Amino acid sequence: MTVRVRFAPSPTGTLHVGSARTALFNYFFAKHEGGTFILRIEDTDQKRSNPEFLNDIYQSLEFLGIKADEGPYFQSQRQALYQEHAERLLKSGQAKHQEGAVVFPVPPAQVTFVDLLRGDITVETTLFESLVLMKSDGTPTYNFACVVDDALMRITHIIRGDDHIANTPKQVVLYQAMGYPLPVFAHIPLIVGADRARLSKREGATSVAEYREVGYVADAFVNYLALLGWSPGGDREQVPPAEIVKLFDLRKVKKAAAYFDQRKLDWLNSQYLKQMPVPDLARRLGERLVAKGLLPPAYDAAWLERVAAIVRDRLKVLGDIEEQHAFFFQEPPVYDPEAVAKFLRQDSIGAHLAALKARLSRLDAFDAGTVEQAVRGFCTEQGLEAKALMHPVRVALTGRAVSPPLFDVMAVLGQARVVRRLDHAAGTLAKAG
Ligand code: GLU
Repeated sequence: MTVRVRFAPSPTGTLHVGSARTALFNYFFAKHEGGTFILRIEDTDQKRSNPEFLNDIYQSLEFLGIKADEGPYFQSQRQALYQEHAERLLKSGQAKHQEGAVVFPVPPAQVTFVDLLRGDITVETTLFESLVLMKSDGTPTYNFACVVDDALMRITHIIRGDDHIANTPKQVVLYQAMGYPLPVFAHIPLIVGADRARLSKREGATSVAEYREVGYVADAFVNYLALLGWSPGGDREQVPPAEIVKLFDLRKVKKAAAYFDQRKLDWLNSQYLKQMPVPDLARRLGERLVAKGLLPPAYDAAWLERVAAIVRDRLKVLGDIEEQHAFFFQEPPVYDPEAVAKFLRQDSIGAHLAALKARLSRLDAFDAGTVEQAVRGFCTEQGLEAKALMHPVRVALTGRAVSPPLFDVMAVLGQARVVRRLDHAAGTLAKAG
């Protein structure tokens, strides 16, 4: 039996991290088993479905590295199939018309289905008296369309969130009524936030697009979502997607709710950024910076690689480049008033910065070593503690109280910028005399 799974989002909202994980678990399982991953868009609710959300779903799946082997199928284009199945059930006397709808009175019975995570589940159908198949407006209900499609698409494993577990016995009844073989189910636990309630907007970002936008890289994000409820064994946490496919075992998914740990995601993302080849990182940063208007499209790629090399270990997300390191790209940099007040409003700082500027402008080389020697030499001559000068210099050059190692920053900024910024700070920001 070849595995066939499906991901069946409704385009009534952006793709949530919970749905993304469901999509990934289906995808990992399919790829691990050499099976087929099908994308089905559940858009029967035309009023709530929106092409923008559909687009968001496509883009998010692409970001996650998920490519459907089949589909997308659209439920809105499969109306005739639902109709046909409803008629079949009407003809056999299993369904009936009721106030314009087609309903299915459920015969009392016990239904059992296989859940790969929980084992066999048996439910009394008396719990639900009758099921609406087709609504009075002629559109199918979720449960009915879902079963017709899963049966016709020969889905072997239905992997979905456990918020659907109450629907499953109803769907099982419909498989049986229509004479279709039952698939195997796997209801994966919800993702919860810090308050142990279902992950919600209150906790920050919930859609894949938002995570992408702030600069989580796909491999780290996919790795993190895979770890929500699944583990490769041992205490291994960094598992690149290609390896997840090799190791993935649906049966090892935990039954307990998975806690969304933002700090762990951040840590994983920073690991991927640290290990990324510098040219690759620089290219990604370049794309962002051009999009944000901080770099011209024809930027100096070699120079950006030098920036990337010194910021790499400090980035949690790609967006930190514009949040914390925009000073590389802004002339003059944006000055943090607190840093200015603390480090530039001291006696004689203006004069020191001006003198240092004069000294640095005479250097013939401007690598980090040469610059460091010059700054330290200057401090000794002036009887200053290096630290006492380095803080103000950092603020003058970056606008901030913290930055990557100062001499590296100076070398990367280059002589012309350093001289200009020291001049600017000495003249307009620092306390004179
Ligand atoms: N459209 C349903 C959802 O988004 C699909 C549920 C299922 O996988 O059966 O929740």
